[in-house]
Amino acid sequence: MDISYIINELGEDREKYFNAVAPPIIQTSNFVFNTVAEMRSALQDEYRTYLYSRGKNPTVDILAKKLAALDAAEDCLVFNSGAAAIFAAVLANVKTGDHIISVKEPYAWANKMFTEILPKFGVTTTFVDGREIENFKAAKTNNTTVIYLESPNSWSFALQDLKAVAKFANEHSIITICDNSYCTPIYQQPISLGIDLSLQSATKYISGHSDTIAGVLSGSSKMIERIFKSEYNNIGSGIQPFNAWLLLRGLRTLPLRLEKITATTNTVIQYLKSNNKIEEVIFPLDKDFPQYELATKQMSGACGLITIVLKETELSTIEKFCEAFKHFKMAVSWGGHESLVIPRCAGMAIKNFNHQLKEHRMLRLFIGLEDAAYLINDLETAFATIP
Ligand SMILES: *Cc1c(COP(=O)(O)O)cnc(C)c1O
Repeated sequence: MDISYIINELGEDREKYFNAVAPPIIQTSNFVFNTVAEMRSALQDEYRTYLYSRGKNPTVDILAKKLAALDAAEDCLVFNSGAAAIFAAVLANVKTGDHIISVKEPYAWANKMFTEILPKFGVTTTFVDGREIENFKAAKTNNTTVIYLESPNSWSFALQDLKAVAKFANEHSIITICDNSYCTPIYQQPISLGIDLSLQSATKYISGHSDTIAGVLSGSSKMIERIFKSEYNNIGSGIQPFNAWLLLRGLRTLPLRLEKITATTNTVIQYLKSNNKIEEVIFPLDKDFPQYELATKQMSGACGLITIVLKETELSTIEKFCEAFKHFKMAVSWGGHESLVIPRCAGMAIKNFNHQLKEHRMLRLFIGLEDAAYLINDLETAFATIP
């Protein structure tokens, strides 16, 4: 489907709301019926009717139609966070005694679900280095029902060969779930590569303005309807109409923002690679990236997030460096208009500090919508603090 059509027209029925260009925010909890028969049929099939906004809501529906089309999926659900989308996708496909194979170091809250919550219900997880398909094959047991992927990882950018993993999983009736937050469906479509469920944190690029938390889960109509009728409604974590409206607003400029961020990222990378205070610049579409070939095969682009490893080993100097930025803000998250820096050492306990490891020398930059020269200037200011 044409992306301009998806973003500007799909799902919008303007004659229903005074030909307004921007859709209304249908901020209602419930919907009225004129006959008992109508109400009965709504209660019997909430997936296809407006009954109660924990389930279906017209503003959310406009957004969902667009997001499913962007994912090349039959349908999708929009959640009040990416974490909720992850939880529902996994919970819907496991029962006591089941086994999950997950890529190692997935998103922190996915990791917590695998290591702390699911074991309470007898669901176990094996973490594998997802860069080799053989590792998935070796970890499979007779009870494996889910393979959980995140490609690229949002810190190391480690990739999985999505087509190959999907093929292997399919042969064994294992459900594949892929966190696609890094690429968005603009740069990668896991479902087109054979993955069953694709999810993303819409908080990042879809919103794009650092003002909404949301998540998307896309898949077949059958799977999405099943999750809607169970986990989605039961956890009650569907997106609110106003937040859905903010995402619709963000979506209008998604391709444009990614284009600008991609161009700026490439300029900033050239600067970083020429900087002799940096040991390593990690970016999946850089020719020096170990999985560069796979990245170019399954992703049509990459942008925004860059991990760098400083040569400096002194923690206090690294901290001063991070605090010296004037324009890069120190904060978690990414995908908004503002450029960000997040030092790995901020997530490390000082008492078990090991200066030998390179981990504390790692920082992740997010390139926002500012101009390249403005950002490079800021990087130079910060680098001047390192002797
Ligand atoms: C942010 C993020 C999530 C979680 O999304 P929220 O909207 O914050 O709940 C999941 N996966 C990745 C890779 C993320 O960066």
